Amino acid sequence: MKKMLIMGPPGAGKGTQAEKIIEYYGIPHISTGDMFRAAISNKTEVGLIAKKYIDAGNLVPDEVTVGIVKERLSNPDCKNGFLLDGFPRDLKQAEMFSDMLKELDIKLDLVLNIHVDSEKLINRIIGRRICPNCGRTYHITYNKPLKEGICDECGSTLIQRKDDNVETVKNRLDVYAQKTEPLINYYKDLVYNVDGDRDVDVIFNDIKKVIGD
Ligand SMILES: [Zn+2]
Repeated sequence: MKKMLIMGPPGAGKGTQAEKIIEYYGIPHISTGDMFRAAISNKTEVGLIAKKYIDAGNLVPDEVTVGIVKERLSNPDCKNGFLLDGFPRDLKQAEMFSDMLKELDIKLDLVLNIHVDSEKLINRIIGRRICPNCGRTYHITYNKPLKEGICDECGSTLIQRKDDNVETVKNRLDVYAQKTEPLINYYKDLVYNVDGDRDVDVIFNDIKKVIGD
């Protein structure tokens, strides 16, 4: 089984594919975002440290992020493969990650890079609507509810997330292009580029071919 990273700009569908991969292959999904949320709600030592930075509106320092990833990768369930998501975010973290892999004697096999061009991403994100009650997501063009503005599942009125506006999205894409995109070159021997502008299942079939059995 493969030891993998998944990357892609906001709105490219990375989360959806990550879910499919971990379910199909039965490997752990190592998401730094989820780990921090869990650590904070469980009030672990690292959770308390992270919370201090987040509450102050600062980024969690690399050492803390690297620490939480290292602890997770040392778990026996990662021996047979894992999917790392949301880390590393930039070159500095990638270098720290390379050192960590050496220490843990882990060899990374594959970097899945889901790409969609910016115009399309902006369109995807600003058209997104969510149900505040059950969490189901829709899109005003690509994934319409049966009745406009109403959740199919529970009948609640759909809302647009505050962050899903053009300005914020452009800013997020710029940060991604500047900080995270250089990793594609850093990992160039391991990268498999996935065209994310296709049907969810078509994308997943493509990913399955490269991961294998
Ligand atoms: Zn709903």
